[in-house]
Amino acid sequence: MEFSTLQQLENTYMAETFSRFPVAIERGEGATLFDTEGKRYVDFGSGIAVNIFGANDEQWKAAVIDQLSRIQHVSNYYYSEPQLDLAELLCFRTGAKRVFFANSGAEANECALKAARKYSFEKYGEGRKKIISLNGSFHGRTLFTLTATGQEAFHRFFGPFVPEVVSVDANMQAVEKESENACAVIIECVQGESGVEALEKGFVRALRAFCDEHDILLICDEVQSGNGRTGKFCSYEHYGILPDIMTTAKGLGGGLPIGACLFFEKTEHTLKPGDHGSTFGGNPVCCAGAVSIVSRLTEDFLLEVQGKAEYLRAKLKGFDGVRRVTGLGLMIGLNVEKPAKEIAQQCLHRGLLVLTAHEKVRIVPPLNITKTEMDEGLTILREVLAQ
Ligand SMILES: *Cc1c(COP(=O)(O)O)cnc(C)c1O
Repeated sequence: MEFSTLQQLENTYMAETFSRFPVAIERGEGATLFDTEGKRYVDFGSGIAVNIFGANDEQWKAAVIDQLSRIQHVSNYYYSEPQLDLAELLCFRTGAKRVFFANSGAEANECALKAARKYSFEKYGEGRKKIISLNGSFHGRTLFTLTATGQEAFHRFFGPFVPEVVSVDANMQAVEKESENACAVIIECVQGESGVEALEKGFVRALRAFCDEHDILLICDEVQSGNGRTGKFCSYEHYGILPDIMTTAKGLGGGLPIGACLFFEKTEHTLKPGDHGSTFGGNPVCCAGAVSIVSRLTEDFLLEVQGKAEYLRAKLKGFDGVRRVTGLGLMIGLNVEKPAKEIAQQCLHRGLLVLTAHEKVRIVPPLNITKTEMDEGLTILREVLAQ
């Protein structure tokens, strides 16, 4: 179909929620993508940190197709092997005790927040329901997760919000001030949507200690930063802490929609039959894809990710027009001199897909991106930045 026809269909039939770049991506191989006109792109975005083994990955595809040819969906009334394989694998990788499967990051966080309130209710009764999140955070678009999203811009129009949810600055004084009647604090160790900023080590460690002391649950939202993105399986590993609840999604399914809420020791038995559920959650095709992804995120592979991250970061630091390089691992933010949106448009025109996060350029390439693809992307980015 002609691109102009696609545009016309979009303008006629689609809800007007997205302002898109004028390109229709059709297919790809690894971190190399093609649009409907046959134009080639290097992918520094992975569909927002989702396609972590790029496009058309053979191993992932084989796992997905194998499951598809057996059965596409099994109700959660029954047992299902891919789901159980994935749950075991995730617990093994993280030290978590139990897993609830959802379909997205927002749903994984919704589950975490509900579980936190139940944990507190069972132990302390009514009146201890407050959720603390951080300013600049992003936790999803459902009303509970949107309320916990500490960015006012997302809040217009949609109130009234969920009561007893507050967002504070990332310092202990601010957290302590709101801590009365708090049941949980939710953080992204590396804030993604608001600008790819890693939280300070001292703050995260002090927060962990404070939460332990007051039996406040610490929820780590690893929806974007998990699944090897930062060079560790989870970004909290860089901080030497463990959460009480961890959520992940985006990269987990390698491109299929899946979210997971992982319960550590304290919260292992919080949710009981009937407390929470999902029709599609733990879909066997998504789980089979996720098993193939997670089982390849070995220590050796993560060392390669760290190597790639160091390579990209060293190059980017030397580029004209880059003020600061932020984030962790292959979750990279660039403070730039020109408007980020303009840079993204110019990169697209020259055959490179990058994302933005507020005023910053965001780079989250597939973890298996090749040296050649990185160099091609860097060349385009350097030219655009220097213009
Ligand atoms: C993307 C994201 C979400 C929301 O995930 P969806 O799958 O879009 O619901 C939540 N938290 C973080 C940190 C994210 O990056």
